[in-house]
Formats: sequence, C-alpha cells, structure tokens
Amino acid sequence: MEEIRVRIAPSPSGNLHIGTARTALFNYLFAKKNNGKYVLRIEDTDAERTSQEYIDNIFDSLKALGLNWDEGPDVGGEYGPYTQSERFDIYPKYAQMLLDKGFAYECFCTPEELEAEKEEATKNKKAYVYSKKCQNLTEEEKAKLRAEGRKPAIRFSIEKAQKAFHNNPVIHFDDLVKGDLHQDTSLIGDFVIMKSNGTPTYNFAVVIDDMLMKISHIIRGEDHISNTFKQILIYEALGAEVPKFGHLGMILAPDRSKLSKRHGATAVSEFVEKGYLTEALINFVALLGWSPSDGQEIKSLDEIAQDFRINEVSSSNSIFEYDKLNWMNGQYIKKMDIKELTQLAKPFLNKYDLTELTQAQLEKVIESTREPITVLSDLTNDVAYFFGKDIEFEEGVKEKNIDTEQAQNILKYFDSQLDSYDFNNEEKLHEQLAEFRTYFKENFGIKPKETMWTVRAALTGRTHGADMGVILEVLGKEKVKYRIQKAINCK
Ligand code: GLU
Repeated sequence: MEEIRVRIAPSPSGNLHIGTARTALFNYLFAKKNNGKYVLRIEDTDAERTSQEYIDNIFDSLKALGLNWDEGPDVGGEYGPYTQSERFDIYPKYAQMLLDKGFAYECFCTPEELEAEKEEATKNKKAYVYSKKCQNLTEEEKAKLRAEGRKPAIRFSIEKAQKAFHNNPVIHFDDLVKGDLHQDTSLIGDFVIMKSNGTPTYNFAVVIDDMLMKISHIIRGEDHISNTFKQILIYEALGAEVPKFGHLGMILAPDRSKLSKRHGATAVSEFVEKGYLTEALINFVALLGWSPSDGQEIKSLDEIAQDFRINEVSSSNSIFEYDKLNWMNGQYIKKMDIKELTQLAKPFLNKYDLTELTQAQLEKVIESTREPITVLSDLTNDVAYFFGKDIEFEEGVKEKNIDTEQAQNILKYFDSQLDSYDFNNEEKLHEQLAEFRTYFKENFGIKPKETMWTVRAALTGRTHGADMGVILEVLGKEKVKYRIQKAINCK
C-alpha cells in the first residue's frame, strides 16, 4: 500500500486560526489512523503578508495543541517545517518544464493592461478571464517586449491541459468528503504560475511541493475546491500522480456568517489567552464535522485518533458554538490535574501577590474555585478575596448580609469564637463551622445558610464562592479576625 502522507500548509498572514487548527487536526488524525506521516509547510510565497511573528505563532499553537508534525528539515534536533520561501530555487525548473511541454506560456501584459481587461469585463457584466493575448506571441515579439524591459510572468494554459488529459471541459474528481465534484474548466482563466519577479504563485508552489513531498491525501477547507481543479491539471501536465483530495465544510459563527473577530476569539492563541485549555480546544474542534461513534463527546486526542474516519466527516458546514466550547472547557477544568491546572492558572493571577500563599494553599484555592468556571480567566475575579487585606463587597451584599442586626449578632459571636478555631486543620474548621451554624439555628431559628452567608460576606464580600473551610484556613486567623472586625465596625 502506498504510504499515507498528509500536510498542513498554513499561510503565515495571521496567527493560527481555529479553522486551520481543525484542518491540521483532521490531517493529523488521518495520518495517525493510517500509520502515515503529517507534514507542516509554511506557505509564505506572499512576502508582503508574511511575518516571522505569525510563523512563530503557528508553530507554538500547533505544538500547544499536540499537533506535532512528523518531519521537516532538522533544526537542532527538532523538525522545522518546510518553508516555501526557502525553496524558491526549486519552482522555476518545473515552470520551465511546463513551458517546454506547451502547457504554459510567457505573459508580458502589464498590470495596467490586465486592469483594462478587467474593467472591460465588468462593463460588459462578464466574469473576468484572461484574454490569452500572450499565448501565441512569436519569438520575435517576445524578444521585442523583453528589449523594452518587460519581464514575463508564466501562465498555465487551462485549455491545453484539459484537452490533453480530459475528453470534456467539465472535469471531475472524487472528493474523500464530498463525493463527486466537477467544474467546467472553460470558465477558468489561464492563471499565473510564476510571477514576473520569479516567485511562484500559491497554486503552482502547492502542487510542486505536494508532488515533491509525496503528499498522498490533501485535506483542506472547501474554499480550496476551485483551486483543486487548477491543481489537478498542473499535476497532469507535469506527468505527476494526482493525490486524493478531501474538502471540509466551513466553520461558521452562530449567526451562520463567516467566523470572524466580531464573534469572539478566532486564533488559537487568543483562546489560550482567554483561558481555554488546549485539550478542550482540540476536542471541541474535532467535533466540528466529526462525531464520535459512541456519542461520547469528551475525548482525548488519542481517543479521537482511534475513532476517526475521514469518510464519516460531515460535508456540510459546522457552527462554532462558543457556548458549547465554554461548557467543554469547564469539563476539562473540572477534571484536570490540580498541579497542572494551578500552573496554567498563574498567568491569570498576576495582578495578585502570589507570594502571600504557599503552593499548597494556592492549589487549595484553585481546587475550591474550579468547579463553576468555564475559562481560566474567570479565576481572576473568583479568587480575589484570597489576596490582600481588604475586600470589595459585591453590590447589595453589605446591606443585606452585614448591616442588619441579625448579621451583626452573628459576626460578633463568630468573632468571640475565633480564638478556639484550629486554623491549620480544614477538617476541624468544618466541624467548628457546623457547630456555629447549629448554635444560631437552635437558639434563634436562623437558617444555617443565612448564618454562613453573613460570615462569607464579611470574609469575601460575596455570598458565593469557595468552600468556607478553605477560606478560613487559607486566610488564617489574623486576616479572618481583621475582616470580621472590620465588618462589625463598619456598621
Ligand atoms: N496555504 C493555504 C491556506 O493557508 C492552504 C493551502 C492548501 O491547503 O492547499 O489557505
């Protein structure tokens, strides 16, 4: 059986988009499932839109998601990606081959001439295709244009390739995801494969690279379907084997428009900055087009790889439900190893003086606050009262839970008991708090939760939050006393 080789080929004109992460994932899964290889290629032929910052972001994001690529030029013991701009000397040879075979021709048209053709088409309400004006230039005509200082681009001749390899201008291919796809190639203009500055265009470089890298299956977004027909003709014109193609539906925002910044985060790194876990992100994007056979949606990358089948990927568009991602992220936060979670939480706590707490205390704080949160950035607010001396009251809390006579009585009694509390023993603290609640229930008929709301309000400024035993233990006697007395005195 031929070796399965796939690739992810991002253009570094932005940070790694979540949609590209999904394409990378499906390629990775397909390779894993079939004992194949998964290659990363940076498509940076468009120098103006490329930046090193984006290249680094793409690397880091893919690695953070666990989508490590299997090969590439070795850089200090690690695989670098293949990078098109480092391969510029490869492409002209293949362009020359197409010129020699008559499947390409030099085009001397200036940008102004091309613009005029486009305007003419718009005026006549026609879709623009290149006029092929340069297709039949004689050697003398070309020499004359060269002498004028014009540098030619190289165009691919659609019609010649079509006629050489297909009986009909309508050409077909069997898409791994979408089944039969076809296109009338007479509607495709002769496109540029090499620009006049000697650099290849996307459609050309991609074919040469996929051919040389022996890519067997090309899995990518359906926005590339129209390119696929052009690329098939180039493979054929080069006498190369045409790989198999699979096109994934698009990822749309909940309002069914193209997912964009106005809907929320779109780059993997932005999601991470907001406090999404990469495990949750990868699990979530896997479900954009793929469904697990057992209906169990929470799955690790390895589990997904076991179950993945490209022909079961949905051919339609998927909706990026931010709410579902939030839910899923919450599930991952809930079950993550506490040490790991604490480490990931730290960047979200940098407004606090973390040296106030020991590592063990910080882990306790995170453990007792992780339950309802959906993103790590929720922690910034949720752990506020564990730091500093004073607290801020949430709206209405002071009036309802501190300023009443009943509350003041509770606080005064609590204050009087504090010396007997064992602040180093969370279990003991729970027992003592239980006795405290019972005292007010039995003697004054005050509901236990009301008693606790008051104590909690005085210590945290809120009526909900971490476990009270943890709060007392982590704050310690001195801070607890200070906050309780402050709540008593501020009446
Ligand atoms: N570089 C192209 C892009 O970022 C993808 C190329 C491909 O998958 O063929 O859209």
